[in-house]
Amino acid sequence: MRNGEVSYWWQARGVPPRRPSLPGGADADVCIVGAGYTGLWTAYYLKRADPGLRIIVLEESFAGFGASGRNGGWVTAALPGSRARYALHPRGAGGVRDLERELRETVDEVARVCAAEGIDAGLVKGGSLSVATSAAQDARLRRQLEHERAWGDGPLVVRYLDKDELAERATVTGATGALYYPDCARVQPADLVAGLAEVVTGAGVLLYEGTRVTAISPGRARTAAGDVRAPYVLRATEGFTAALPGQHRTLLPMNSSMIVTGPLSDAAWKSIGWDGCETLGDEAHAYMYAQRTADGRIALGGRGIPYRFGSGLDHDGAIAACTVAQLGRIMRRMFPVTAEAGLEHAWSGVLGVPRDWCATVMMDPRTGLGWAGGYTGHGVAAANLAGRTLADLVRGVPSPLTTLPWVGHRSPRWEPEPARWAGVHGLYALYRTADRLESASRSSRTSLLARAGDLISGVPH
Ligand SMILES: Cc1cc2nc3c(=O)[nH]c(=O)nc-3n(C[C@H](O)[C@H](O)[C@H](O)COP(=O)(O)OP(=O)(O)OC[C@H]3O[C@@H](n4cnc5c(N)ncnc54)[C@H](O)[C@@H]3O)c2cc1C
Repeated sequence: MRNGEVSYWWQARGVPPRRPSLPGGADADVCIVGAGYTGLWTAYYLKRADPGLRIIVLEESFAGFGASGRNGGWVTAALPGSRARYALHPRGAGGVRDLERELRETVDEVARVCAAEGIDAGLVKGGSLSVATSAAQDARLRRQLEHERAWGDGPLVVRYLDKDELAERATVTGATGALYYPDCARVQPADLVAGLAEVVTGAGVLLYEGTRVTAISPGRARTAAGDVRAPYVLRATEGFTAALPGQHRTLLPMNSSMIVTGPLSDAAWKSIGWDGCETLGDEAHAYMYAQRTADGRIALGGRGIPYRFGSGLDHDGAIAACTVAQLGRIMRRMFPVTAEAGLEHAWSGVLGVPRDWCATVMMDPRTGLGWAGGYTGHGVAAANLAGRTLADLVRGVPSPLTTLPWVGHRSPRWEPEPARWAGVHGLYALYRTADRLESASRSSRTSLLARAGDLISGVPH
């Protein structure tokens, strides 16, 4: 089994040859740091709105090296953060509903651009299944449904599927029911980010790879080769942000780990079903997420080792043997027939988590500095919406996007070490134990340990 090598997604499509590095100091109208979805979508919408703009994107490694080339491939409309927190914005609950509606429409926008630009990322909009595999999880699903209804989301946005209705879509061992959200698509993440990089460079955006930005200040991004000077400098480094000067406590680099099976036989697929290619996750506290891949495998992810001391980052995505074993157990428990296909690849990546678990799109017109990120694991669609929003903010064009409640949102900073490490590891230890207790019990009550975890995280998840 391969481990690391950035991700299965990249190995499946082949890592492209590196683009040139920044040759020396340069001037631009907009400089973007980081070539993942956030940076590339921002460049895409800016260039479309104003083809004359000189845009430089600086990327430390290669476009899609980060979470954008490693993720679970859920183009999900899920809100990156807590409704209650966003509702503290002056626009209140109405603003939150607008943000959620924009996120739902973003799933179609990603599909539209893929079709219009010829990006073949295996996108299928089959919706998303959140399955319950214990009585406590099922009770949470039902409470979640009530919560969605209270926010005004009707059956077109989410509905409950009982065991039989779920089985018509997919056979998941031990599942008792599910919530179904139609606004979600599956993609091959690296195909999406690679296609996007091709499109923006084809439109005239200068993308320099192998170019690390060492500092960002108003009007400039510093690199070893020289500075890029631009009135607007946008940070799009999500899970890597902590490595930049002054940003150590802005976003916590949370690990997420994935495994993928070998191709499943026709007989295996017949027994599982899953013909709609819905994305599929569970309601555990340390939840799993999965997709049926375009090449007939199951890719499944979960938390693994959640966080490295001092906001440490990985480089090639290799994961610990215990994490592979843990994810493999989940795979075999939910989809026992996958045992015949075995596991072929395991990898991980970092996503950015703000202290209040709410994402931000920020643009300071005084300094020309902007950034977006902190999508807490829901960044694939959100980065598109953030990119469109940043493009409007840079151009100074008021739009329905520029008043959404995540614009200008300020999250508190993370605690210094060792409190940060202890808090995150303690949180996930509690969640894992709570999951074990709930699985072993017939009780529909959420474990008190999970509630203690929610108190540590500060946000009900
Ligand atoms: C394993 C995993 C599974 C996930 N699954 C899902 C999912 O299914 N659905 C979903 O919605 N979200 C998911 N996410 C989250 C989602 O992938 C991210 O939120 C999203 O890709 C972030 O995009 P980004 O462009 O902001 O950051 P990234 O894709 O991380 O890009 C940041 C880029 O900046 C570059 N960079 C960093 N520092 C510098 C520097 N100093 N100078 C120059 N360049 C720099 C990096 O090399 C990187 O290429 C997952 C994340 C992971 C890790």
